[in-house]
Amino acid sequence: MIHCTEDMALDIQTIRKDFPVLDQKVYNKPLVYLDNAATTQRPIQVEEVVSQYYHNGTGNIHRASHFLSDKSTMAFENCRDIIQNFLNAKHREEIIFTKGTTEAINLVAQGFGEVFVGEGDEVIVSEMEHHSNIVPWQLLCDRNNATLKVIPFDDNGVLMVDKLDELITEKTKIISVTYISNVLGTINPVREIIAKAHQHSIPVMIDAAQAVQHTPIDVQELDCDFLAFSGHKIYGPTGTGALYGKKEWLEKMKPYQGGGEMIERVSFKETSFNQLPYKFEAGTPNIIGFIGLAEAIKYVTAIGLEAIAAYEEELLHYATSELLKVDGIRIIGTSPNKSSVISFIHEKAHHYDLGMLLDKLGIAIRTGRHCADPIADHFDISGSARASVSFYNTKEDIDLFIAAMKRVVQMF
Ligand code: PLP
Repeated sequence: MIHCTEDMALDIQTIRKDFPVLDQKVYNKPLVYLDNAATTQRPIQVEEVVSQYYHNGTGNIHRASHFLSDKSTMAFENCRDIIQNFLNAKHREEIIFTKGTTEAINLVAQGFGEVFVGEGDEVIVSEMEHHSNIVPWQLLCDRNNATLKVIPFDDNGVLMVDKLDELITEKTKIISVTYISNVLGTINPVREIIAKAHQHSIPVMIDAAQAVQHTPIDVQELDCDFLAFSGHKIYGPTGTGALYGKKEWLEKMKPYQGGGEMIERVSFKETSFNQLPYKFEAGTPNIIGFIGLAEAIKYVTAIGLEAIAAYEEELLHYATSELLKVDGIRIIGTSPNKSSVISFIHEKAHHYDLGMLLDKLGIAIRTGRHCADPIADHFDISGSARASVSFYNTKEDIDLFIAAMKRVVQMF
């Protein structure tokens, strides 16, 4: 698998051969897929390993009394090692398999929240969070009579991290923030947030749903206490994802769900729980999905996240400058530190109409509020259109998108 040219730039044409799905026509137009922040496409390597496991059969995991069960368990647990290496977690049992980022955050809001967040306590999130990093904390605060506080962002979409000094009190029990905003594209200074929080011994959870696929992450270097990501946003199967948690926290937390596998011994009188990571993995997981996720992470790692980040930044700058040449466009999210996402509105065209008309020209973007109502409220807009790039996109994709935009806005 050679994905780099001699000067170490990405060899996009070779990469695109791994994604035949991109080479299709919709409405008789070449597909230009610019909705990567919502979900990514999967390379054939992932597709092949997944279909192999369906074809050759699987057994249920951790019940290895026969060949297929043993084989599935090995492949499934190998995914844990791959994620451990990928994030540079200290211990393999610090990697908990989940359905995705949403479930990982809910796991912490429940498992940590029920032990550490009581009446009168405070939880801090930011104004630019996805709903999945707001609502689980809101539910916790409602249950336990705690208060949710919010770090604001400015009109460029830059998080006002200085405000943390006022927001943090002796009642603050956890801070949960996104690494990269799915609407604004802002890359947040998570190291600074973590350092500030740790001065007060407050743990920090990082929502890395928009980060793991765009930037190398080393959880030990970041020193975050929890970190969540989704498999489908990093070229893996849907219904997979992971929570990284420091062992010392995970050990003190309550199980999130009850069921098979998460127990040591059950009686009607009392139940004792399994060791980490199984304490948080009740029920049969998406076994084949995780085997596919392992392959997706291997794929991305082989290309190299540094090279991916550099190329995507180039595409982002090109797309931004070209889009600004289209009459009537305003970009939502103009932080100097951005990644892979451009949200925009047009002075006359509704974002929904833009999305529908672009779709008929083969261009897939996302429209709406992007599961982040507070961001739309901040800018007092009903929503926005969003184009998001991946390393498999090309300058030609951007040119087709811009040409389509020019055509579409003329109609208004
Ligand atoms: N957090 C962010 C920043 C996201 O962009 C998303 C999805 O778009 C999520 C969380 C939720 O991810 P999932 O739906 O895969 O659980």
